[in-house]
Amino acid sequence: MAKNTGNNRISVKWVRDKAKKAYTKDDTCYICGTDEDLELHHLHSITILLNTWAEKNNLDISTDEGILEVRDQFIEEHHTEIYELVYTLCNKHHVRLHGVYGKAPAPSSVDKQKRWIELQKEKCLNGTESKEKSSSLGAFSNFY
Ligand SMILES: [Zn+2]
Ligand SMILES: [Zn+2]
Repeated sequence: MAKNTGNNRISVKWVRDKAKKAYTKDDTCYICGTDEDLELHHLHSITILLNTWAEKNNLDISTDEGILEVRDQFIEEHHTEIYELVYTLCNKHHVRLHGVYGKAPAPSSVDKQKRWIELQKEKCLNGTESKEKSSSLGAFSNFY
């Protein structure tokens, strides 16, 4: 935790900017089926993937130059996590998921996230989830 991760936001942003171009978002929320305010959720936090990978390979991603140099390689080696292990969720369900699992969910929570998502979907199908009004979700829409 005491690591120098000051450039994290920026380095992750570089990766996201690049990878975003190839994302295929669904047209509806996986859980409730709405087509409004859709966002992409990664089961594997890109922040954690990137840091773990950089550490393992002894790469310096603390500068823009550093991250740009290895960005393509990172994306290449994490195709599954970046492009396939993702869910399209509406903002409401996305915020709720991160409320449960944190802003950058631990790698160990991937199966739990899946189960949570399926459970919410079931609830929606059964109509046990009433339509809730949420007003202050906007600030949370940028997850890592
Ligand atoms: Zn939803
Ligand atoms: Zn997410």
